[in-house]
Amino acid sequence: MPIDLTYTPEVASLIERTRAFTREVVLPIEDRHGGDIAAAGGDDVRIELQAAAKAAGVFAPHAPVELGGQGLNMSDRAPVFEEAGYSLFGPLALNIAAPDEGNVHMLAHIASPDQKQRFLEPLAHGDVRSAFAMTEPAPGAGSDPAALSTRAVPAPGGWRINGQKWFITGADGAGFFIIMARTSGEPGLRGGATMFLAPTDTPGIRVGRHIGTLDKSMIGGHCEVSFDDVFVPDSAVLGEVDRGFEYAQVRLGPARMTHVMRWLGAARRAHDVAVAHVAQRQGFGATLGDLGMIQKMVADNEIDIAATRALLVRACWELDQGDPASNSTAIAKTYGAEAIFRIVDRSVQMCGGLGVSEDLPLARLSREVRPFRVYDGPSEVHRWAIAKRVVGAAKRAAREAAE
Ligand SMILES: Cc1cc2nc3c(=O)[nH]c(=O)nc-3n(C[C@H](O)[C@H](O)[C@H](O)COP(=O)(O)OP(=O)(O)OC[C@H]3O[C@@H](n4cnc5c(N)ncnc54)[C@H](O)[C@@H]3O)c2cc1C
Repeated sequence: MPIDLTYTPEVASLIERTRAFTREVVLPIEDRHGGDIAAAGGDDVRIELQAAAKAAGVFAPHAPVELGGQGLNMSDRAPVFEEAGYSLFGPLALNIAAPDEGNVHMLAHIASPDQKQRFLEPLAHGDVRSAFAMTEPAPGAGSDPAALSTRAVPAPGGWRINGQKWFITGADGAGFFIIMARTSGEPGLRGGATMFLAPTDTPGIRVGRHIGTLDKSMIGGHCEVSFDDVFVPDSAVLGEVDRGFEYAQVRLGPARMTHVMRWLGAARRAHDVAVAHVAQRQGFGATLGDLGMIQKMVADNEIDIAATRALLVRACWELDQGDPASNSTAIAKTYGAEAIFRIVDRSVQMCGGLGVSEDLPLARLSREVRPFRVYDGPSEVHRWAIAKRVVGAAKRAAREAAE
């Protein structure tokens, strides 16, 4: 089936409206507060921006139409999310920031009708925020999910959950958690995880320290969270018991791609700022932008932007065909996270002292994009998985040839 690169008039209009909304309404607020969401007012500014996005008709492009969203598939999300990502606060304004956007996607696919009503609807409307609690301090789950140590054991009418998580984005102020817990097997074994939905006020859930990190634009911090004998009823099980790792893939493949989309918008802003600078700044009898080594950085940024978009197109197309797209999302995520960092870093370099100053947004953009090479799977883990598939196929072919 050919990949169609044209957008319907409705999607084209949404891209344009998102572009205007992000630049005219959102960007000035980001710039006023140096991209620090807590300094900008946290949930107060989120609510204000989301009301403005609703009024502008650009809210929740990813959410199902019956929940007030625009029901875009992955391919159509790409240009819209990129436009929103042009401001660090744009995704929050449209309700497509992590982790809520990925959680909407997963709940729309897996949640029961009751769970959809209780958790998905308010999330899609922006009435509550959510958190996805997977990562644990050592020796628990990190790059290797099979190390999952948080346990859920059967109790009359439900389950009791015990464990420690950390780096849980948005935990402070979230209305509910999606908790990944081991329901069978031992840490180090792949099978036996289950996802549970639990309102934050469930007894035993404690949101602790905000871990100080490079980035400042994600609402609700990256927190330590403990689950201390938390009772959840059977109705809290998301999907089926012991299928948690499988469901995580439903969330993670698309969530990786939407992160690439949003951060590509941020990288484009950095590039635009740098190009505007080098087109004006004079030095050594020339305009900086006419000097070969600056031209190389400008051209390399353009190449990285175009290549990241192209990889997104392929991965999103596969996802839209119902394919898990494990390989193409790993490739697009790895290349995208590294390309985005390179683009921002070159943009800093082109602007000299101003590049590292707070007079331009580049210093903060370089802080914001750096962690993306770690979350949603570190580059090394994706490379390992990509290579394993290729070498595994070659081994199989060699075995078959020998038989
Ligand atoms: C800003 C931020 C937000 C986050 N938000 C969330 C969230 O909302 N929910 C959540 O559950 N988690 C979240 N995380 C956690 C994130 O998913 C993990 O940090 C990530 O999976 C890596 O796990 P780890 O930190 O335990 O690193 P480790 O697993 O200890 O890995 C450390 C490093 O070892 C290397 N490495 C690992 N495996 C391999 C391999 N097979 N081959 C070669 N090298 C390897 C990589 O370089 C990796 O960076 C967030 C993290 C950050 C930084």
